[in-house]
Amino acid sequence: MGFGSGPLIWFRKGIRIHDNPALEYASRECSHLYPLFIIDPHYMKPDPNAFSPGSSRAGLNRINFLLQSLGDLDVNLKKIGSRLLIVKGDPYEVLIRCFKEWNIGKLCFEYDTDPYYQALDIKIKDFALGAGIEVFSPNGGKPPLSYQSFVKLAGEPPSPLSTTYSSLPPVGHLGSCDISEKWVANFEKPKGNPSAFLKPATTILSPYLKFGCLSSRYFYQRIQDVYKSLPKHTSPPVSLLGQLLWRDFFYTAAFGTPNFDRMKDNKICKQIPWKDDDKLLEAWRDAKTGFPWIDAIMVQLRQWGWMHHLARHSVACFLTRGDLFVHWEKGRDVFDRLLIDSDWAINNGNWMWLSCSSFFYQYNRIYSPTTFGKKYDPNGDYIRHFLPVLKVVSHDSASKECKRKMGEAYALNKELNGLVSEDDLRNLR
Ligand code: FAD
Repeated sequence: MGFGSGPLIWFRKGIRIHDNPALEYASRECSHLYPLFIIDPHYMKPDPNAFSPGSSRAGLNRINFLLQSLGDLDVNLKKIGSRLLIVKGDPYEVLIRCFKEWNIGKLCFEYDTDPYYQALDIKIKDFALGAGIEVFSPNGGKPPLSYQSFVKLAGEPPSPLSTTYSSLPPVGHLGSCDISEKWVANFEKPKGNPSAFLKPATTILSPYLKFGCLSSRYFYQRIQDVYKSLPKHTSPPVSLLGQLLWRDFFYTAAFGTPNFDRMKDNKICKQIPWKDDDKLLEAWRDAKTGFPWIDAIMVQLRQWGWMHHLARHSVACFLTRGDLFVHWEKGRDVFDRLLIDSDWAINNGNWMWLSCSSFFYQYNRIYSPTTFGKKYDPNGDYIRHFLPVLKVVSHDSASKECKRKMGEAYALNKELNGLVSEDDLRNLR
């Protein structure tokens, strides 16, 4: 069986036209091009393993962000004489149909380390190569497993691709946004207020990086440009550049570790006898632990699909080694559904980190579910914003009252003995 010569660019997580090697390769010397995105029912259908019945693998915030990103990609493609084709269905079946109907001779897509795509890509590549279709999906190398060796190996990434446009509209009014060069140069994690919600303390670029609307290589280059003009800047692992390196560190570690997404048969993961207690998990997931700081973060997760890194630390520590001793895989699943930026490698890597299962076994810091939040949110503004039920209760009185309700045994045993219901919370008013 043989196919023709038309190229197809299959957009997956590189939803952009800038610095996109697959798009660049696909559009080389051709008279026409098929830019395709496939809406995969795998992410939209109710997940049979989901904790809450009927919920899809991807939460609404993420689906919404994806649809907006596709709209944006279409607009950008139209500006340069093309457009985005969107088809819904099983990617393997859709692609085979497209190969035949459009007489495709070249298939280009970004490499993905997520096991779901790994399995799918083998099937698709096998079919395409058997049908005489050229496949372009570059990757290679042996992944390092420590941040230091990763940084050493990473060196300087190649320059991003430059795309020329005939014209671009001027930059609009930036309002109160002050992401200045100085801010980039001084960026230092974990400094920064996890409770800042009107003007978050970090870039909030994770959803754009997750879907590849922003090329991490381009972002890296632009940060380097700032560092060149401001030589006094922070350094990895705490700098902004260091954050991007964390991202790629987890990507490489995940790719090199079989069963990275589970405790069992995962050679880098400590085997810990976690509790299997759905009641505790439910209280955490549904923001009903009675600890306002923890519950407010979980409401932010549900409402926004994004929280600050230290807020994620707080709730992940609370669920696992800090307080409830529930398995990190359960918390990972809740994050996976609700985060817009949910990313297979980064999410699993950080959950193993926060539960002291891997990477940082000596990470002894326990985030208090009361005093840690109080340090950043002394007036309880963050808590009241996400838990309006506590509007008339002060930070102090809420946590004291909730603690009283949970019982002294909680603090001693680090176990949740009594779960605070909505009625209990209403009684606190
Ligand atoms: P910034 O601080 O502005 O950092 C810029 C970028 O660097 C981020 O957008 C992200 O791409 C990368 N980055 C920052 N911190 C980390 C980190 N610790 N590990 C890897 N990359 C990092 N991030 C995700 O993108 N997807 C996830 O699924 C995810 N799950 C997490 C789960 C837990 C339990 C924890 C503790 C953290 C998780 N993170 C995840 C990492 C981090 O919290 C977010 O990347 C960050 O808060 C996003 O906000 P930002 O874009 O403003 O980050």
